[in-house]
Amino acid sequence: MKVLLHICCAVCATASIERLREEGNSVSGYFYNPNIHPQSEYLNRLKETEKLAREIGLSLIVGEYRVEHWFGPVKGLEDEPEGGKRCEVCFRLRLSQTCQLARQNGFDGFTTTLTVSPHKNSKTINNIGREIGGPFFLERDFKKKEGFERAMALSKKYGLYHQNYCGCVFSQNKKTGLYTQHKKSEFSGNR
Ligand code: SF4
Repeated sequence: MKVLLHICCAVCATASIERLREEGNSVSGYFYNPNIHPQSEYLNRLKETEKLAREIGLSLIVGEYRVEHWFGPVKGLEDEPEGGKRCEVCFRLRLSQTCQLARQNGFDGFTTTLTVSPHKNSKTINNIGREIGGPFFLERDFKKKEGFERAMALSKKYGLYHQNYCGCVFSQNKKTGLYTQHKKSEFSGNR
């Protein structure tokens, strides 16, 4: 099956791609994340994803980085907690764009790396993916079967950068508290 995989960052991509390939799929990546702030952080995450793509022979498509495409839809949701309504809008935006690109380019389905993170609710992400794409969306929970641990091991192998906040300016502002919450984990920085 020819799958378009939305990639949020290189670390989460590692284990997701490995698992999709193990299932027998031909995977292409789509880095589309207008949520990431600031631009230097966006470029850093993109650079790491391109590095991974070269290492593992992944075809990578890079989406537009136009922050207004993200700030518009989340207007009024600035004070939402991480995991709340703003995140649902953020997931929907990135998955909708991935679905559209996959349909336009002859893919058999699409999915996302977002479910690798233990900080994200896979059920919410899968519900949104299903609403957008129906059976064209491949429901996955990549954190299952120690997927997150595998992502940590692979990212270490490839020497990938681990961010310490989810991505948007609002999550960046709260990163100190989030760090404290997860500081016992060796890889607490990755989100
Ligand atoms: S916390 Fe993460 S998922 Fe939620 S809105 Fe910000 S970037 Fe998107």
